[in-house]
Amino acid sequence: MTDPLQSLRRCADTIYSCRSCGMCGNKMTAKVPYVCPLREATPGFDHFYARGKIVIARGLLEGALEMTSDLAEAAYGCMLCGNCMTQCGATDRATAEPLVDTVRIVEALRADLLRVHPEWVAEGYRSLLAATRQYDNPWGAPRSLREKWCKGLDLPRAPQAGCDVLLFAGCTIASTPALHERARKAVQVLRAAGINPAIMGRDEPCCASVQRRIGAADMAGDMVRANVEQLNAAGCSEIVALCAGCANMLAGDYRTAGLKARVCHIVPFLAALLEQGRLVPRNAYPHAVCYHDPCHLGRHMGIYDQPRAVLRALPGLSLVERTATRQNTLCCGAGGGMRVFESGTLSLDIAREGLASARKAGAEVMVSACPFCEINLDAAAQVLAEPMQVLDIIDLVHASVEVRG
Ligand code: SF4
Ligand code: SF4
Repeated sequence: MTDPLQSLRRCADTIYSCRSCGMCGNKMTAKVPYVCPLREATPGFDHFYARGKIVIARGLLEGALEMTSDLAEAAYGCMLCGNCMTQCGATDRATAEPLVDTVRIVEALRADLLRVHPEWVAEGYRSLLAATRQYDNPWGAPRSLREKWCKGLDLPRAPQAGCDVLLFAGCTIASTPALHERARKAVQVLRAAGINPAIMGRDEPCCASVQRRIGAADMAGDMVRANVEQLNAAGCSEIVALCAGCANMLAGDYRTAGLKARVCHIVPFLAALLEQGRLVPRNAYPHAVCYHDPCHLGRHMGIYDQPRAVLRALPGLSLVERTATRQNTLCCGAGGGMRVFESGTLSLDIAREGLASARKAGAEVMVSACPFCEINLDAAAQVLAEPMQVLDIIDLVHASVEVRG
């Protein structure tokens, strides 16, 4: 018989590294006003932040607790943002790396729950998985929609093209018509720097980040293995991803599974082009801009400097920082499938907090580098008494450099 706790058992080491100190549920310093945005947005019961989730994981492993339907709230109420890992005092003495990997623990909790009791997992998550089975992506977008963003751009197709750079739009951008312009702008900016990227169009696979985060570990593993084969066959030496979730997945799980190409998110790629003088920003953008670090790009990939370097290179722009920034930043509210949890109301509350802190810092515009952050922040910005514009870094670079069709 399959072990119902097989995923949790694989992370016993990290579960037992927790000292139950509760620091991850606290308010802290000026730079870290609080650790867990979810705890802050709820009545604050222990199961909403890391310590409580780990106590539950331990209880299950030791047989002191049984799986019940209540477990779903502890497992799915988490943005996998990793701030608790960053602030946790349990670190490896030699490397200073965190010993408690909450993201891994919560993903394992979800994986065991989904495998053993899928009926306890909210319908919204199961719909994302059903859509993946039918359409190969969680958003239920048919292949024909997923190549619409590039219509008329005459981009070379991999694997036929034999290009160095493969632009990976990601299924969130490709499936959301409102974001198609973003991908087109990215192509125009790359072309302004003399790069004509290849794409996979309707054959571009879903990276499996969403499936992995919501607990479908086996499905995600199968997708990664198949996609690595397809991407290796594409023959490009560098994959440039437009989505922070895709970039993190491609640089992590795909690399481990044998992906040969280098992986770069579009923002550090643009930062390098600006530094080399291959992109020259000319048009001024005279606004105060706050950069929101997407968790996938910041805490999970360590990319903090390049987005700020890109923004500082744009004439007229003034960059403002919130008090909690860089590794201490607070999630936009959409990570880890949270837009499905309680119909997304907590996600929006958390996004509103983020926008309010940007406004307090003097920002007129909030900029990010991930479609998930943008969608959630924008939805929250629409209902503010004083709306705030939410954009992606690509929009600003595109407006500043000379681009052709
Ligand atoms: S996860 Fe870290 S900060 Fe939270 S209770 Fe455990 S040891 Fe303390
Ligand atoms: S990963 Fe983020 S949302 Fe989840 S428990 Fe840690 S701080 Fe809270």
